[in-house]
Amino acid sequence: MNNRKNNFMRRLKIGVPLAPYTTFKIGGPARYYFEPKTFSDFKTSISWALRKNIPYFILGGGSNILVHDSGYKGLVINTKKLNKLNVKGTIISAECGVTIDRLVDLSLKYGLSGIEFAAGLPGTVGGALFMNARAYDSTFSNIVDKVFAFKAENTCVMDIVLKKDNLRFSYKQSIFQGKRFYIFKVNISLAAGSKKKIQSAIDKNRKKRKEMGQYVFPNAGCIFKNDYRAGIPTGKIIEELGLKGKRIDNAEVYEEHANFIINRGNARAEDVYGLIRFIENEVKKKKGIILKREINLIGSWEELEKKQEN
Ligand SMILES: Cc1cc2nc3c(=O)[nH]c(=O)nc-3n(C[C@H](O)[C@H](O)[C@H](O)COP(=O)(O)OP(=O)(O)OC[C@H]3O[C@@H](n4cnc5c(N)ncnc54)[C@H](O)[C@@H]3O)c2cc1C
Repeated sequence: MNNRKNNFMRRLKIGVPLAPYTTFKIGGPARYYFEPKTFSDFKTSISWALRKNIPYFILGGGSNILVHDSGYKGLVINTKKLNKLNVKGTIISAECGVTIDRLVDLSLKYGLSGIEFAAGLPGTVGGALFMNARAYDSTFSNIVDKVFAFKAENTCVMDIVLKKDNLRFSYKQSIFQGKRFYIFKVNISLAAGSKKKIQSAIDKNRKKRKEMGQYVFPNAGCIFKNDYRAGIPTGKIIEELGLKGKRIDNAEVYEEHANFIINRGNARAEDVYGLIRFIENEVKKKKGIILKREINLIGSWEELEKKQEN
């Protein structure tokens, strides 16, 4: 066994509870769990899972996922230690595990404008790019310049560099969804700006989220995507159906924002999932709209799915 693999095996953990690594605070354990610290660590972990034919999942800030109560029967690669930042002119280079708020604070320090829209957004650079996260008047696709990534093919992991034009961005979509491409580092292109204006925009956006009650109860942000053909945001559709406050055990449709489901304390993934299915059925039946999920479901959901259908 070579040194790199040896080091990986020593740091590989077994049976790690995932709930603390999610903003929902829900979900069972990962069979295998690893926190890469370097580019080569990250690559080794993916290669190991591919060679062993073990499913794997890249975890960022866990702010857009619902982990099954039985957990994840594979390898969870948590990117939290891939957190280096570097500034060169108007480009910030951020590893995938850098939190959005840290990135926003650094942009202020250097008087760089363009990422103020994301102030207060939970999660990491990797997750935001994967989801093409958006807020107020902008999206991640507007500020990304280049991505250093991995591509998995059969049992091989290759390094690739993707330029902005190859990232296939659209509403809450990027090339990383549905493909075996994994983000290591992102170059973000900003513009020199007035520190005073940047600070004021950041403060305003953080305050707005706080006032909307986004941080009061554990949640994972919007559960469903907006469908602009409907003419109104999905939250409003759910609200119009009178579903605010609808509860399954400790999972509840949030009174402050109907597209959020909150964990009122020890909610189970099964409760949240039941609520998701209930909302989908109501919206379909009463409005003729088929909602698209924004939340990523992690683990094995087939059994619950069957249970809901019966
Ligand atoms: C209170 C609250 C408010 C929110 N507001 C917004 C909002 O205004 N706008 C918005 O768009 N979203 C919002 N969200 C959702 C969420 O914060 C974003 O989608 C965020 O970008 C997800 O990042 P994350 O690091 O937490 O990703 P995770 O939840 O950890 O993962 C999400 C997906 O990204 C993948 N992923 C993560 N890192 C990598 C990587 N390095 N390489 C490949 N794939 C990776 C994961 O595998 C997973 O499929 C909100 C969530 C909360 C809790």
